[in-house]
Amino acid sequence: MKNLLKSLDYSVLQQCMHCGMCLPVCPTYAETKEERHGPRGRISLMRAIADGELEITRGFADEMYYCLGCLACTSACPAGVNYAELFETARAEVERRHVIKSTQRDFWRWSVVKVLFTRPRLLRLAGRGLWLWRVTGMQALTRALRLTYLLPRRLRELEPQAPRVGAKFSHQLIKPVEKPAQQKRRVAVLTGCVQDLAFPEINRATVDVLLANNCEVHTPPVQPCCGSLHAHNGDLESARTLARRLIDMIPPENFDAIISNAGGCGSHLRHYDHLLRDDPAYAARAVEWSEKLRDISEYLVEIDFRKPAARAVTQTVTYHESCHLCHGQKVSAQPRAVLRAIPGVELRECPEAAWCCGSAGIYNITQPVTAGRLQDRKMANLRRAHAGIITTANPGCHLQIQNGLRAEKDTVTEVAHPVVLLARAYAAEKNEAAARA
Ligand code: SF4
Ligand code: SF4
Repeated sequence: MKNLLKSLDYSVLQQCMHCGMCLPVCPTYAETKEERHGPRGRISLMRAIADGELEITRGFADEMYYCLGCLACTSACPAGVNYAELFETARAEVERRHVIKSTQRDFWRWSVVKVLFTRPRLLRLAGRGLWLWRVTGMQALTRALRLTYLLPRRLRELEPQAPRVGAKFSHQLIKPVEKPAQQKRRVAVLTGCVQDLAFPEINRATVDVLLANNCEVHTPPVQPCCGSLHAHNGDLESARTLARRLIDMIPPENFDAIISNAGGCGSHLRHYDHLLRDDPAYAARAVEWSEKLRDISEYLVEIDFRKPAARAVTQTVTYHESCHLCHGQKVSAQPRAVLRAIPGVELRECPEAAWCCGSAGIYNITQPVTAGRLQDRKMANLRRAHAGIITTANPGCHLQIQNGLRAEKDTVTEVAHPVVLLARAYAAEKNEAAARA
């Protein structure tokens, strides 16, 4: 069987010059101070496998799954090592070799990665089930009767962290095409999977701020997953299939920009050009797709968004950076620029804003102990900002912080996406104008 790490361009594997500048920013290295738990050690292992000096073993697989994939190492690296490609290829190789054998793991991977997250309608049905379980009181009853103790231990521990699914999904809040009073641009909005289930109001706010800036907004009602979950978990073939589906649904040639509001999805969506480079039918369109893909804050700054005049927020705000937004997409100043433009917002930085919160895709499920420690560290740093509102631009981080707050009964009033606060300010502006009229 051909080794995927071997098939990488050798220059990618050779880029690392072992300087160690990535070590202080690596959360897993900070946890253990062991070389193999840091980027330099992991890259050395990958290179030894590509050179045929080491076999793919269970130990190597565990190491690849202990890595958060947070990409903090790529921001610190002076040599420009493409760790994202190395990491995804290494995980894909681990899965192809089946070195982690477990019936339970295979079942969960198949049902979640292969079935649930490739069928958006089925995912919404599962979301509706979660919603019913909560609103009919079944969740409270199950807890009161301690029936959760009948669940396997891991599921029991995860139950309190289940996303609070809303009564409506994005397509029930957003029309497929919405037109502004004066159209200057045409854009498409990606609604995501977790965002659609847990935070559809963020998708609504994204559309609202685009309309307020003269964009005609297209939002297909049923969108496939972007494939980020699949690529990060060693299933590159499914990731390619989903990328093709999304390109067919949202042809890049029809739009000025394709907008993502989820840091983790955006980081993957930006690299469709690389993912589909060997597919003659899609390679050129994937290049155009990647060129037009923008995070919402990045796009707003790029088009010099209109600054709202009404004061809709009166609290101190702090900002937690999603790893894949700041390290994966290098979008760091723009969400802060959006926040600073909102009248009434006092943006107060927290320490280690760009340190991973432990969510990292499904890391809080696969590595609960380390994820819990990272969550504690994050919550302690956020608390140091003494802010009333915590903002972040990725649903995984959003849930992780919400769960951290719930656990501590904090005094923070809200966790919000920056565009939700901006949309609130535009709405207040409209209401004030209506009151004056
Ligand atoms: S991706 Fe994150 S956890 Fe993994 S090696 Fe890089 S900094 Fe460390
Ligand atoms: S900073 Fe870059 S070049 Fe230096 S050890 Fe880390 S990955 Fe290698």
